[in-house]
Amino acid sequence: MTPLSEISSLPRSLFTDSPEETEAVAASLARLFEADGPLPPFVALYGDLGVGKTAFVRGFASVYAPGRLVRSPTFALVNEYRTAGKRPLFHFDMYRITSDDDLYSMGYDDYLDRGICLCEWCENIPYALPEKRVQVVIEKCPEAADRRKITLCVKEDPIC
Ligand code: ADP
Ligand code: MG
Repeated sequence: MTPLSEISSLPRSLFTDSPEETEAVAASLARLFEADGPLPPFVALYGDLGVGKTAFVRGFASVYAPGRLVRSPTFALVNEYRTAGKRPLFHFDMYRITSDDDLYSMGYDDYLDRGICLCEWCENIPYALPEKRVQVVIEKCPEAADRRKITLCVKEDPIC
C-alpha cells in the first residue's frame, strides 16, 4: 500500500498527526525533486510559528543531506546543507526580515541559482520570491493539537 505521506504529483493536500509524518511528506517531495527535475528549485513555506515549517525542512534535508542537523536559521538567516553528489540545500528563515536591505545584504539573490532553496516565513518577502516556485502551506487543525494540513502546489503567477 502507498503510504499516506507519499506524493506522486502536485498539487496535493494532506494531513499529518506528528512531526515525523510531516517530515515524511517533505522527504517524499524531495524524492519528487530528485526523480523529476522540472520542479522549480525554490520551496516557499507558509504558516504560523510552531506549525512545522522547520520540521518540513528537516524531512526534505533527510533526502538531500542525510544526517545533517537541521535547525531554524532564525539568527543566521540562512543555513547550508551539502552532501557530495547532491544539489546543495539552502534553508532560509525570513522571520526577522523587515526590509529589502536586510535581504540583499545577506546575498539572497546569489543563492537562488546555486541549489534548492527552502524558505520559512515567505509571508515576509512576497516581492522577492521567484515567479515559479513550489508553495507549501502548513496549518494547524482545530480538531487535534498535533494535526496539520499541508497543501502543496506549483505557483507560476507573477508576484505583485
Ligand atoms: P516552525 O518552523 O513552523 O516554527 P517547528 O517545525 O520548529 O515550527 O516546530 C513545530 C512544532 O510542532 C514542534 O514542536 C513539533 O513537535 C510540533 N508538532 C506537532 N505535531 C506536528 C505535526 N503534525 N507536524 C509538524 N510539527 C508538529
Ligand atoms: Mg522554523
